[in-house]
Amino acid sequence: MSQKRDYYEVLGVSRDAGEQELKSAYRKLALQYHPDKNPGDPQSAEEKFKEISEAYGVLADGQKRAAYDRFGHAGVGNSSGYGPDFNASIFSDFSDIFGDFFGFGDVFGRGRSGSRAKRGADLRYDLEIDFTEAASGLETKIKIPRWEICAACNGRGGKKGSEPVTCSACNGRGQIRSTQGFFTIARTCPQCAGAGQMIREACPECQGEGRVRQEKVLGLKIPAGVEDGMRLRVSGEGEAGQQGGPPGDLYVLVSIREHPFLERRGRDLYCTIPISLVQAALGAEVKVPLLRGQERLRIPEGTQTGSVFRLRGKGFPSIDGHGPGDLYVAVHVVVPKHLNREQRRTIESLENALRVENKPLPRPAERTRGSHE
Ligand SMILES: [Zn+2]
Ligand SMILES: [Zn+2]
Repeated sequence: MSQKRDYYEVLGVSRDAGEQELKSAYRKLALQYHPDKNPGDPQSAEEKFKEISEAYGVLADGQKRAAYDRFGHAGVGNSSGYGPDFNASIFSDFSDIFGDFFGFGDVFGRGRSGSRAKRGADLRYDLEIDFTEAASGLETKIKIPRWEICAACNGRGGKKGSEPVTCSACNGRGQIRSTQGFFTIARTCPQCAGAGQMIREACPECQGEGRVRQEKVLGLKIPAGVEDGMRLRVSGEGEAGQQGGPPGDLYVLVSIREHPFLERRGRDLYCTIPISLVQAALGAEVKVPLLRGQERLRIPEGTQTGSVFRLRGKGFPSIDGHGPGDLYVAVHVVVPKHLNREQRRTIESLENALRVENKPLPRPAERTRGSHE
């Protein structure tokens, strides 16, 4: 074995160099001698890389540095390169240099447990309901095709009676460790994909997937007062997760069919009812259709076209429990067209009795002011 160089010399720093100085010296040299960056002479680059990493590994560790300062190479008892006491965590700040080459992603990452568990995907279901169903609320059943945990194997993927076996490639660790240069590298085991276990015989129901495509029938409660375009979240009813991950959510997108004559604005409803000239003049009682049943509405005599009547509490229920809105009924006075002879004579006979002076109406502002006087 050749004579080992002084660690401070290797890194090109003084004996009282601080942590930061060590770090930046090491970073500079590590980049310079990174085996990836020296394809022409990887062997000597690696040697050099080893040397600087060994030096940094000792000097960055307070205890080892103190021992080295007192006793030299003998003090750190590590004369033959990177033995078992190689402390990878000292190098964690340099993961950007090493990247995946040295598998630091695995070493310093989240580790094995939990990293493979995958949350199931969210699902969307489009549900179209009637206007009146939106008003009354609705209990319905929907069918959603989705991935479910396989009942035959309980999601494990193995055939019944055939227990999973420990992965032979990684001995159940889920990671393969190998020595590349002087680093110990941990990679996700390719044989078991990190699970550490393997299935000897695949479950015939799911072909070893652990989940199966199924049509799930789900009871759904749509609250009264739901609005068009509302998205209802049904927690945990999306796709099954993988490797023990939680399921996704189901989103039910509600669209509401239009009503033939009721228009909804928030909690209030609007409709228009035609009345005849005679009803407008003399007053009348008309039937107003509601969401359920009907209501009698008294039209007073002398009602003008466009007049609006309010039926309190006959609107749409509110989803937040604030009680229903109101129903606004506009009346539309139908002026007859295409009269026959008899109708024409009848109306003509009214002309003298109901004569209107065709004088312009006062401007709206004048009218308002006038009404206050
Ligand atoms: Zn199965
Ligand atoms: Zn394995």
